Amino acid sequence: MKPKETLLNSLLKENTLSLSDLGNEEIGNEHLFTTEDTPMKANAFELSDDEKIKKIGSHFREIMETLGLDLKDDSLKGTPERVAKMYVKEIFSGLNPANKPEVALFENKYKYNQMLVEKDITFYSNCEHHFVPIFGKAHVAYISSGQVIGLSKLNRIVQYFAKRPQVQERLTIQIAKELQLILKTDDVAVLIDAKHMCVSSRGVQDHNSATVTSFYGGKFNEEATRLEFLKYVEMKTAY
Ligand SMILES: [Zn+2]
Repeated sequence: MKPKETLLNSLLKENTLSLSDLGNEEIGNEHLFTTEDTPMKANAFELSDDEKIKKIGSHFREIMETLGLDLKDDSLKGTPERVAKMYVKEIFSGLNPANKPEVALFENKYKYNQMLVEKDITFYSNCEHHFVPIFGKAHVAYISSGQVIGLSKLNRIVQYFAKRPQVQERLTIQIAKELQLILKTDDVAVLIDAKHMCVSSRGVQDHNSATVTSFYGGKFNEEATRLEFLKYVEMKTAY
């Protein structure tokens, strides 16, 4: 973790500093964020996906042309539409609640009352300050309150929230809160270990640092439970 970031966040919490006191560069480089919910406009879904693709495509064309690229080149001419499609249908598809995975709950017939850990979930997201990739592993765990969900759904929930412009702290919280809601329990843990391309490929150009964020709810606030979870995360997988 970067101590400066932690310090800035705690100052913000104490209201000694506000985001509006900071410049755009500083907000981006320190990866500060304002809310747990992704800030969305009230009319975010007035346009259809196809309308969004058309609009983004023409704006992206403008960006490329402004950069001086020749859009008549065979290799470049399809790029604006490709990028637009990728934004709407793939890497930012998690902005649309219509794409949220449907989750069915099952009765915990085996009365399995220990924690379940789904570890090493690979995800790809994008930093909301620079629109470049954040990628890493998410580890999630819960203790059943009487119901369970299919393992692949844990994976899908991570992917859904990752497919948004994100900051890692918010991604962590959004996954955890969603799991708490679905599983009807506070006993949820989320640990994310990720690399930010905006830190390694630009800005301070640090190639080795990684960012770890965590959320511990309910029983995971007890030291023994938390340590058990962390032990499973560190454990080498059997295959
Ligand atoms: Zn960034």
